[in-house]
Amino acid sequence: MRRPTGRGVIHERGTPGFDKTVLATSFNGRDPGHRPRVLVEANDVSDVVEALKRARRENLKVSIFSGGHSWAQNHLREGALLLSMARLNSIEIDPESETATAGPGCWGVDLDRALRKHGLFFPVAHAPDVCLGGFLLQGGFGWGGTRVGLAIQSVIGLDVVLADGNVVHASDKENPDLYWAARGAGPGFFGVVVRYHLRLHKRHKASGMKIQVFSQKHLEDVYTWADKVGPEVSNLVEFQLLITPKAMGTFGPGIEVFAPVLASSWKEAREAVAFLSNSPIRSKASLTTPLIPASISFMSLIANFTHFPANAKWCTDNMWVDAPIEQLLPGLRKIGDTMPPAPSHSLLLYWNPHNQPERPDMAFSLEAGKYLAVYGEWKKDADEARYANWATERMQEMAPLSLGVQLADENLGRRPARFTKDTNLARLDQLRSTFDPQGLFNSYMGRLG
Ligand SMILES: Cc1cc2nc3c(=O)[nH]c(=O)nc-3n(C[C@H](O)[C@H](O)[C@H](O)COP(=O)(O)OP(=O)(O)OC[C@H]3O[C@@H](n4cnc5c(N)ncnc54)[C@H](O)[C@@H]3O)c2cc1C
Repeated sequence: MRRPTGRGVIHERGTPGFDKTVLATSFNGRDPGHRPRVLVEANDVSDVVEALKRARRENLKVSIFSGGHSWAQNHLREGALLLSMARLNSIEIDPESETATAGPGCWGVDLDRALRKHGLFFPVAHAPDVCLGGFLLQGGFGWGGTRVGLAIQSVIGLDVVLADGNVVHASDKENPDLYWAARGAGPGFFGVVVRYHLRLHKRHKASGMKIQVFSQKHLEDVYTWADKVGPEVSNLVEFQLLITPKAMGTFGPGIEVFAPVLASSWKEAREAVAFLSNSPIRSKASLTTPLIPASISFMSLIANFTHFPANAKWCTDNMWVDAPIEQLLPGLRKIGDTMPPAPSHSLLLYWNPHNQPERPDMAFSLEAGKYLAVYGEWKKDADEARYANWATERMQEMAPLSLGVQLADENLGRRPARFTKDTNLARLDQLRSTFDPQGLFNSYMGRLG
């Protein structure tokens, strides 16, 4: 994605270049065929208020984007007023109180770089250009999340423009219902976030990654081992396994085992990732790197380059799972055997909420020890029919093992699934009817219940 330049303007449907401008708002290069009636690029809060006024006047539903990273392209809805928050991207840091405020259009990598100068940290997303807007609303699984928890747990408040045009602050003390909803409603939030208030953390002193690569013929051995050690891996490490058709170093179908670590010293970092060198299956690995020092921004750029390149078409899906690994192995094997070409991949992350800060009462309420996601990628329109359902079909087959889905990689339009507790979904519905009684804002593309 590109950072926005110049002042934002209003683009009306039917004017030259409209389709191109609208499609450029989406990281996913697919064309879902839907077009908004108008695209409003907000420059400030008053533009947001004006846009909502117009939507009410012209009876248009509103959809919103900040960084456009919704895999499902949730913001591209037929006939809507599409509101761009990309230009509300400023950052203000108060090192004294270890707090910051940031606009929804702020890129994760920009926040991280600004905080580094002050020795401070916030768990931003793993891809540099994912924006705070959508990332935080769905929970936020960021760098260091296995230690500090969901990024939304470090949000102490937010400023929101409501459907009636009022601008309000939401926190524990003010509008607590809205604050509750904003922490997990994801793409079904019923307001426009114009600013986040963040609680910061002390920055790690050492960061880097250790990598181990196996041939896919060892898949069962690798995942069986991983499931023994995974739940007990230090929470300084985001322990993850990627099935890929083109593994690092071997360029064949493989499993990349990543252990990114953020620690308070190099000694602590080395100890946290030592389990890879000491593992009983180490001799089967085609490659084991030492701990490679790398900053968060560097690791984010590499992740984008190797696994999430731009200008591609994607279909993703996912599941939270606590089932024993033996039950997952047939599904994992099929994922590897049927995967579209690289950079398609599948992630298994040991999220381990038992090692994280306790969750407050908030809309987000569904997670598990393991997170499994599938990312199918293709470039040519001609491959659409072949690959567009791959991710959905793999997760549909494994659905009996699933506890629900994460909204980060949601695919609700194609495969509605649970993403929060039923009681929380009911409360979200009730709050939506309070804060947005006329249904101004578009809601989830699909849902259960
Ligand atoms: C390459 C890539 C890497 C990713 N890595 C991670 C990761 O490491 N961790 C993680 O948790 N997720 C990750 N995601 C998922 C990502 O966090 C979500 O898709 C998130 O919604 C993206 O935020 P955005 O603002 O960039 O996207 P957008 O598409 O702009 O936003 C998604 C939805 O959020 C809502 N929304 C956005 N901004 C606002 C606003 N200001 N007010 C109200 N509603 C709003 C809208 O409903 C919108 O459709 C990744 C996605 C991609 C494509």
